[in-house]
Amino acid sequence: MFLSSIGLLPEKLEFMGSSAIPSFLAGSPPFHPEDALSSEDEEEQRIEFLAGHEIRLGDRTRRIVLMTYDDQGHRTWIDRILDAYTLVGGKASFFFTGNCLPLYAERIQRIVAEGHVFGSHGLVHELHTAMRSDEIRAQLREWLGMVDEIIPGYQVKFFRFPYGDRNERVKKVIAEFGLQSVHWNIESGGLDEDTFDKVVGKVFNGSIVLSHMTRYYDVHEAERILKHLIKEGYALESLETGMDPKDLYPQVTLNEGSFTSKPFLKYLQP
Ligand SMILES: [Zn+2]
Repeated sequence: MFLSSIGLLPEKLEFMGSSAIPSFLAGSPPFHPEDALSSEDEEEQRIEFLAGHEIRLGDRTRRIVLMTYDDQGHRTWIDRILDAYTLVGGKASFFFTGNCLPLYAERIQRIVAEGHVFGSHGLVHELHTAMRSDEIRAQLREWLGMVDEIIPGYQVKFFRFPYGDRNERVKKVIAEFGLQSVHWNIESGGLDEDTFDKVVGKVFNGSIVLSHMTRYYDVHEAERILKHLIKEGYALESLETGMDPKDLYPQVTLNEGSFTSKPFLKYLQP
């Protein structure tokens, strides 16, 4: 009665795993926290979901572009990119490798403070499919440990595989750390004068643009690219706000007995 009365569609439950109706939804209201899935089940479902939902495009229903910047270059170059966003408006996402991460502490703090997304590009810029799973786990622990020193409490959610080199196995390993793989549909190039044209000529709603903090034209043309996109009516969003809702894990978080999950609130509130 509860499920039919709220019109809960089967696809809403897809991420929950093989059983069509999770135990905590099967009963009638009021909801009792003790009926919730065990944290182990929830953890397993979260890993499956994140590993199975690589982000390749953002929300295509909105006129947005998701700019991303990989690696890490000269610190003044990072400032230059950030200044462009301050000037033009909008947010982006930055993927850092572990090399010398502490040297970038102030820039990373600035990225987060200014509302951009800070993501992982691995501890080392190497092919992840060539690494053993426990090797990747150890590297991620080290990378996340450094990040925790720089921006304590910040939850890193997104991972860009170096060279885009990934498979199902490594996507699952990073998902154990709550990380979701982010790919791209447009490469700016960044090393040639046609960088501007490559970006503005190819974008469409929800595009994810791969750029680099290390590449001259990605950095020095950033302001011009962003201004042009804004003029074309695009909003510049980070992965956090601009991702396709189907890729967002609908976390059900028990917080003193109440749900904080937006997708589920409407279904679960008695
Ligand atoms: Zn890279």
